[in-house]
Amino acid sequence: MKLEYSAVKSAARKLKFRTQAFIDGKFVNAQSGKTFTTENPATGKPLAQVAACDTTDIDCAVMAARRVFEAGTWSRMKPADRKKLLLKYADLLEANASELALLDTLEAGKPIGDCATMDIPDTILCIRWHAEAIDKLYSHVSPTGPENLALILREPVGVVGCVIPWNFPAQMAAWKIGPALAAGNSVVLKPAELTSLSAIRMAELAAEAGVPAGVFNVVPGLGETAGQALGRHPDVDMVAFTGSTEVGRYFLMYSAESNLKRIILECGGKSPQVVFADAPDLDGVANNAVGAAFWNMGENCSCGSRLIVHKKIKDELVEKIAKLAKTWKVGDPLDPQNRLGAMIEKPHLEKVLGYIEAGKAEGARLTLGGRRILEKTGGYYVEPTIFDKVSNRMKIAREEIFGPVLSVISFTTEEEAVAIANDTNYGLAASLYTRDLNRAHRVSRAIRAGTVSVNCFSEGDITTPFGGFKASGFAGRDKSIWAHEQYTELKTIWMQLA
Ligand code: NAD
Repeated sequence: MKLEYSAVKSAARKLKFRTQAFIDGKFVNAQSGKTFTTENPATGKPLAQVAACDTTDIDCAVMAARRVFEAGTWSRMKPADRKKLLLKYADLLEANASELALLDTLEAGKPIGDCATMDIPDTILCIRWHAEAIDKLYSHVSPTGPENLALILREPVGVVGCVIPWNFPAQMAAWKIGPALAAGNSVVLKPAELTSLSAIRMAELAAEAGVPAGVFNVVPGLGETAGQALGRHPDVDMVAFTGSTEVGRYFLMYSAESNLKRIILECGGKSPQVVFADAPDLDGVANNAVGAAFWNMGENCSCGSRLIVHKKIKDELVEKIAKLAKTWKVGDPLDPQNRLGAMIEKPHLEKVLGYIEAGKAEGARLTLGGRRILEKTGGYYVEPTIFDKVSNRMKIAREEIFGPVLSVISFTTEEEAVAIANDTNYGLAASLYTRDLNRAHRVSRAIRAGTVSVNCFSEGDITTPFGGFKASGFAGRDKSIWAHEQYTELKTIWMQLA
């Protein structure tokens, strides 16, 4: 698909939606026959009716996943063979990349340029990277005495439930299923109810690649029903969750009240971007700061929503950021010229506008944006918004807004900057800008966050772990070999030698 508005619109019109659950290698309706409506946030109009699965459907999927896991068809397949199938799967994802990008654009209101050039390539890379790793990982022999042989092995955990959010639908699915499938687990994935379509298609493509029936199931449904059923299921060995901190807590409770399944949480953030007075190239900083705050409409867990900037350069930097932010066009996500699409749904739009009102009421100075726009389209668009003169005690500086709203807070000393950066319940990501190498080391270690990027805004790449400190996460990481490990159990085999 050519990234031109007319070509994209025409490809979108031709899309066929898969709306059923994909369980045990087959498309099926919810057993209750119920469906829910998924809509296009760019128009506010319904897109499709999706199977509203509940406990019964989750039971079926878990049963299929367990059966194939115990049979060993996938879990005990030679790593080199599993790799071959997963690489074929990655090739199929690549062959259908335009379709997957369009599905995420239509359902999540995300700009097609981002979906086609970032989300879906990253999705494919993630599957490939984990597939390629699996026949290169060695186990250990422990340094015992000559009368014993002790093997320390990694084995798949079993049936893994994956529960994911709507902000990067295909990519978040890949961050879970990439390492989980590569490690030999069977997966039951519940997508966010607002964005089920790309995940369902991804399961169909896995089956087409030859991944055995029951290994990768997708069960769409609401969080309180399908999500909870997965979290409480006595035969699920692990749940890997990405979403809000609030819902993440439920999964710890579900686990405690059921079978103590392993829980991995990737949750929210309120990430600082700390800019020192000696930051190199303020235009470059502005460029990064705009990306950090407004990319994906700020609906991004690592969104750099707090700009903590030295008093001396604050006005100059804010001016540059505002000027640049005005060039980020907002509008139809199918138009590749647009850098910002729509907020995911009306209630979320209202929540973001509510935060903007709270910022004004608490005395922050609105220096850019602040309004809903393009209302006639029926879509949920918000302008890139900047608040200056924010104190870190204000609501807009403390809570995850998940919208295109940047709060500017100033400081005078390094200690003050670090204290403000760390004065948050979250600890997912942070950026800092300085010319001073010693300060870069000092501050990047002092900031309590899972990823700290220096003189750039970055989540790293597939080789680096991603996840959070404090309320941003629990017990795990996505991406890299550490993600792979968390989908395995450690086993010791202790042998007495004659
Ligand atoms: P959410 O917590 O509302 O939903 C996430 C998933 O949980 C969905 O599939 C939903 O259906 C399910 N769910 C909701 N209520 C449930 C319940 N009671 N029981 C079981 N499951 C339930 O989050 P969201 O609004 O979809 O996504 C936005 C959040 O995700 C933000 O906080 C964002 O920061 C976070 N996020 C984090 C990362 C990361 O890597 N740390 C990445 C992307 C998004």
